[in-house]
Amino acid sequence: MYNIAQVIDEKCVAKKGCRLCIMYCPEANCLDLNVTKMVAEVNISRCKGCELCVVVCNAAKHNAIEMQAVTSSGTLMSHKGESAGLGQAYQG
Ligand code: SF4
Ligand code: SF4
Repeated sequence: MYNIAQVIDEKCVAKKGCRLCIMYCPEANCLDLNVTKMVAEVNISRCKGCELCVVVCNAAKHNAIEMQAVTSSGTLMSHKGESAGLGQAYQG
């Protein structure tokens, strides 16, 4: 198990021109702009979990990136999309 960065779309202000995390991520082709959604997006298979993106995003007070645990096979252990799906399932 290891940690990777995940962008919280609702908090990301890339549509206003922010590219901080993309500029600072040391891994090539890891953090990039999703031009459809206009938010920063992490390539899970490339992320090394250094948290530099979290530091720069938080320093700019956007707080739009959080670290998430993934299994050794690269599957997210707790993804907000999955938990929302579970919640819906329990609502019957
Ligand atoms: S630094 Fe934060 S707000 Fe800026 S583009 Fe990256 S995730 Fe979005
Ligand atoms: S944790 Fe490091 S490698 Fe992963 S997206 Fe952020 S800056 Fe890039």
